Amino acid sequence: MLIRKAISLGASDARMIPIDQVHVDPSIVDLCMSPRCSGYAQCANCPPFVMDPQTAKRWITNYNEALLLKKDFDPFDLLAHDHMEHFREMFLMVTAMERLAMKRGFKDAAALGAGSCKPVFCPERDCAVLEGKPCLYPHLARPSLEALGINVFDLAKKVGWQMYKILRETDPNTVPSASLVGMVLLAKQPNTGGTSR
Ligand code: SF4
Repeated sequence: MLIRKAISLGASDARMIPIDQVHVDPSIVDLCMSPRCSGYAQCANCPPFVMDPQTAKRWITNYNEALLLKKDFDPFDLLAHDHMEHFREMFLMVTAMERLAMKRGFKDAAALGAGSCKPVFCPERDCAVLEGKPCLYPHLARPSLEALGINVFDLAKKVGWQMYKILRETDPNTVPSASLVGMVLLAKQPNTGGTSR
């Protein structure tokens, strides 16, 4: 049911995976620093302020499975000046799926997006959370998989998705497709009778 809903919301593909396939690798977080991402140290959902990989590793063990979502784009779209719209779409999609999972009894469902929420939702101002105030977009802003140290390319390979690395300097003519990946972590709740499929 969750997979069908994800596709209806615009995902190119969605898979349910057991939680033991979701590995945290601290070296993935190092990639936020070099080359330095515009969100690094600029928002509460990015390193070094988001939970560190060791904490993320322990946190993930609270869950049984994960809904993995992929959205494919033309590589030219992901390198265009308005490319943040695609990251926004992924935040919208994973948080919609998080809310739906909660309604279905997965009360601790937790969404992870693609990229930093800072350039998507707060490009013109400082992160409110880092100023000691509530997040301005609490229903939409989430950490990314990479911010917690989850290797997206490794996960994609496990489920048979072909993905290509795209950097700022990538010539879009040299890659056949571009993809963003999000996730919703799910823990089976006792006595709900619900199913994640
Ligand atoms: S959405 Fe804005 S206020 Fe919320 S964590 Fe991201 S940068 Fe901070």
